[in-house]
Amino acid sequence: MRAALLTRYRAPLDITDLPDPDCPEDGVVLKVLACGVCRSDWHSWTGSDPDVVLPQIPGHEYCGVVEEVGARTSRWRRGDRVIAPFILACGQCPACASGNQTTCPTQVIPGFTHPGAFAERIAVPRADVNLSVLPETMEPALAAALGCRVTTAWHGLTGRAGLRAGEWCAIFGTGGVGLSAMLLARALGARTVVVDVVPEKLAHAKAHGADAIVNAAETDPAAAIREITGGGADVAVEALGIAETTVNALKSLRKLGRMVQIGMPAGKHTQMTLPMDAVYSGQLAIFGTRGMPSWRYPSLLSLIAGGHVDLTPLIARRVALSDASAELAAFDRPAPPGVAVITDFGR
Ligand SMILES: [Zn+2]
Ligand SMILES: [Zn+2]
Repeated sequence: MRAALLTRYRAPLDITDLPDPDCPEDGVVLKVLACGVCRSDWHSWTGSDPDVVLPQIPGHEYCGVVEEVGARTSRWRRGDRVIAPFILACGQCPACASGNQTTCPTQVIPGFTHPGAFAERIAVPRADVNLSVLPETMEPALAAALGCRVTTAWHGLTGRAGLRAGEWCAIFGTGGVGLSAMLLARALGARTVVVDVVPEKLAHAKAHGADAIVNAAETDPAAAIREITGGGADVAVEALGIAETTVNALKSLRKLGRMVQIGMPAGKHTQMTLPMDAVYSGQLAIFGTRGMPSWRYPSLLSLIAGGHVDLTPLIARRVALSDASAELAAFDRPAPPGVAVITDFGR
């Protein structure tokens, strides 16, 4: 099969021919229909993700058609169209039994701990407990974005911070996950204020329904948000993993506000100095979040199928496998609005 292989940090991926993957007994082999290019892939590409050992095939936001079914897999048949969460939980341990699959201690993460979906085919273990049916009406490029950014934003807002209708939600960073959070918060009936430093991305967010935008390159975003919201946001989403935005997210909250750390702090941002006086005096809550348990897919798919949220503004570019390197390198700079999805795996 054709695949893009990460062999050296910060170098173009090797577009190469590899043997087709073996089908795991408890899994399936998918023909990949689409795979998103995500900031988390960029973390691998720069060498700042300790889970990734080279060489590795990146790609964790995928959907596909079942081509092969393992002997111990019962839910799936050849030809089924499926989507996968990026965390493949075991389905057996106490964490999984309590519904918290994102904390499964033996989780498998394609693209990081196992070969990913920057390839024509991917082996997906633990298929019965993790995969969901890709609705007929959903196009693969959009479904690919669900596997990571949209699910992560959905679980951060609803499963962690408990965002409610009428509340103000401030979103720091309008990459894939930030834009998803804005669209979903809006669908939940919350009001949204979006912060970025790229005017084009702010205009894009505004055009797709953000109630207010703040350019952090021009003004103190926390003060601006307190002003816009009449005292501070109820929920702040940090979608970059950067110390400065985490600090501003906390400072933008009203009393009893909740901050969700969705961005992955990597490199020099793994350690941050935070305004704990604001946490104390504001009686704030800080939630870490990562991924979404697969049992929560139906709630999200139902919201989308019901026409309550249009996620198409997320997809900016449909690209070929050979473009993946350029898309990864683009995360070095403030990127244009929307995300890139690989939809062409051929020659
Ligand atoms: Zn991702
Ligand atoms: Zn488990």
